[in-house]
Amino acid sequence: MPKNPQYKRVLLKLSGEGLMGDKEFGLCTETVNRIADEIKVVHDIGVQICLVIGAGNIFRGMSAAASTIERTSADYMGMLATVMNALAMQSALEAKGVQTRVQSAIPMDTVCEPFIRRRAERHMEKNRVVIFAAGTGNPYFTTDTAAALRASEMSCDALLKGTQVDGVYSADPKTDPNAERYDRLSYQDVLARDLRVMDTSAIALARDNNLPILVFSLHNPGAFAQVVRGEGTFTIVE
Ligand code: UDP
Repeated sequence: MPKNPQYKRVLLKLSGEGLMGDKEFGLCTETVNRIADEIKVVHDIGVQICLVIGAGNIFRGMSAAASTIERTSADYMGMLATVMNALAMQSALEAKGVQTRVQSAIPMDTVCEPFIRRRAERHMEKNRVVIFAAGTGNPYFTTDTAAALRASEMSCDALLKGTQVDGVYSADPKTDPNAERYDRLSYQDVLARDLRVMDTSAIALARDNNLPILVFSLHNPGAFAQVVRGEGTFTIVE
């Protein structure tokens, strides 16, 4: 008998790369659909969900491709790319019958709603999945920080970060066989040991707002539903 969900409202952060599947660039439709299925399962057990999606699969402000572009413009390009990913996820979720709204930190009225916290709150109360696009709307930030910010603003019980590995390690487990996996860490451990969970501004914001961060693998089918029940494999930072 599966346990009841441990959280009433969560923010799920997906990196852009998580939507790429085996591709080198862009979106893999099957992967987006599979993640939408995972989200639907959690939505159907009554957990309120909002999403922040990155854009590493399309454009990053600090990438080599952007090296000749002025930094703030490159960052705006990255933020615009997150809107594309948000629209793709919206479409996949709605095809499965999950009601959604996209809210962008950079207003673009013909494409989606602008970010209005109280309106987002209302959508979530009505069990719509709210997808926050365009990061924080400011250059020099990342979508990790946007995730910590929106999770705090929306009074989420936890920030869940779906990644390529099943938690936080002392080194990259794909390249270092001696990498140690942690079940539980403090915010201070992450900052002091420079563990690459999320960037430091995101960790500091989560710490200041007592927002637990749960890191889990998006590749394990059913993992999102397990993690919201406090089961399965994940690292908790709190
Ligand atoms: N970005 C930004 N401000 C934000 C969020 C994102 O300038 O608040 C830009 C930044 O250039 C970043 C890009 O958008 O590199 C894509 O976001 P991110 O790198 O966080 O994506 P992820 O690694 O999660 O796929």
